[in-house]
Amino acid sequence: MTKKIVVLGAGPAGGAVALGLKRLGYPVQVIGEPRPFSAVEGISDRVVEGLRYAGFNRVIANLPEPSSRNAVWNGEHNSANSERLIDRQQVDQLILEDLRAAGIEVIEAKVSKVFEQEHLSDHGDKGFVIRLADGKEMNADFLVEARGRAAPSAHLPRVRGPETLSLLQYWQGPATERSSAAVSLPDGWAWMAKIESGKRYLQLTLDVGSNKSTNSNTFHSSCSDSEDARNESSSQKLPGKDQLSDYCRQRFEQISEAAEFMADAEPVGIPHGRTSTPILCEQTVGLNWLRVGDAAMAVDPLSGNGIFQALSSALQAPAVINTLLKHPERRALANQFYQQRVSGLFYRFARIGRDFYAMEQQWTDHPFWQQRNQWPDAEPMHQSVHFDQLEVKAMPVVSEGVIDKQEVVVTPDQPLGIWHMAGIPLAGVVKAVRARAPDQTLEACLQALSINMNQRIMLLRWLHSLGCR
Ligand SMILES: Cc1cc2nc3c(=O)[nH]c(=O)nc-3n(C[C@H](O)[C@H](O)[C@H](O)COP(=O)(O)OP(=O)(O)OC[C@H]3O[C@@H](n4cnc5c(N)ncnc54)[C@H](O)[C@@H]3O)c2cc1C
Repeated sequence: MTKKIVVLGAGPAGGAVALGLKRLGYPVQVIGEPRPFSAVEGISDRVVEGLRYAGFNRVIANLPEPSSRNAVWNGEHNSANSERLIDRQQVDQLILEDLRAAGIEVIEAKVSKVFEQEHLSDHGDKGFVIRLADGKEMNADFLVEARGRAAPSAHLPRVRGPETLSLLQYWQGPATERSSAAVSLPDGWAWMAKIESGKRYLQLTLDVGSNKSTNSNTFHSSCSDSEDARNESSSQKLPGKDQLSDYCRQRFEQISEAAEFMADAEPVGIPHGRTSTPILCEQTVGLNWLRVGDAAMAVDPLSGNGIFQALSSALQAPAVINTLLKHPERRALANQFYQQRVSGLFYRFARIGRDFYAMEQQWTDHPFWQQRNQWPDAEPMHQSVHFDQLEVKAMPVVSEGVIDKQEVVVTPDQPLGIWHMAGIPLAGVVKAVRARAPDQTLEACLQALSINMNQRIMLLRWLHSLGCR
């Protein structure tokens, strides 16, 4: 009998998992509450590719063109980059439309509680009971937790980076050109965006630990995303909720690059708090549940990689779930595959963030910069690798919708292994190169493998880059 899979949360991660499971032939239900706050985010071409690959056709069809992104970091100006500015409430709505168009049942509701069933289900497992805010209850055999940072996680082992809070506020002004800017500050950084309609979005990211105060009149009631956000905000050395708008205005008035975003514009409503502390769940998969996207790991918004990272875990999750359901004997392998990838991605982006924070040298004695320019560790982002360091190992990979064990090439820079390069299983190539006769050239060795010229050229380049001659 087909297991009932329910996805909690309909953001990019929940949506991508549901579409992937549907493609694998599973009936799947998604329960999602519309995003309760408005937010603008910047995405790169990599995210667009991820969204396309996941099957978000309506989201792709409605994306705006890239607009200019200015940055002022370490006192240096850079306007070479661009990003697409997306309205998250609109994108999340289009995600729901894409899910429905794919034949997926979407229930727009708030999940208030999830607990284990007391009795065994028809399949002989203990499933879950999902209670909605209106009191209705539903059952699930397999649960995908995709409620973003709002997903309860305190019961799981977690790694937390420096405690961080982002304050964001909308401003409305006359019609304008679309653009964004990021600026470093002595105690954090600011991100600003404006779009044609005259809507402006001002975001201030600050350290929580260094702003601790005993003031209980804080703005926690305006803070969303999660219990964490509320806890963090309550320790902010920030003014009370009624003065927070003035505080944000004053902060932005001191940033010269903010002038063009504030010109002839006025704030709308009160600032909104979002926790942006990097968080990694060290257990993201169990017997009949799996966490994806921000619910599995959430990164510092500085990297601008949040949606990319959410999609990365979500695109691999369907094969993991398929394996857990169809090949329970491979459970350990599937768990290893998923957890290693989630953790690997988290640390990769944490180190990218660290190196970016370390480029800011003006305020290195301020706790905000001190904590971030050395977290999570001192490991370099990339290590140079020599051919002699390559190892051929059997590791889990995704093969035809399930997790399988295959020989891959492991390097200090790619600890999870490279299975294919240029469409060729790489382990066989490395073995052949190692086993070649002393007088056989690399070219002749590759020619002996049945691969075409383009593949040979790519593999030769790779081997040369590793010092193999
Ligand atoms: C301040 C800040 C700025 C950011 N800027 C960027 C940026 O510029 N670019 C970028 O790529 N990323 C950015 N991010 C990160 C990005 O928002 C997330 O990484 C991404 O949205 C994660 O996708 P997700 O699907 O895992 O979670 P989410 O997008 O958070 O989706 C979770 C969904 O679950 C729903 N939900 C939550 N609780 C419940 C419940 N109880 N019941 C039912 N539904 C529920 C939510 O409404 C939401 O629709 C930023 C994050 C922060 C905090």
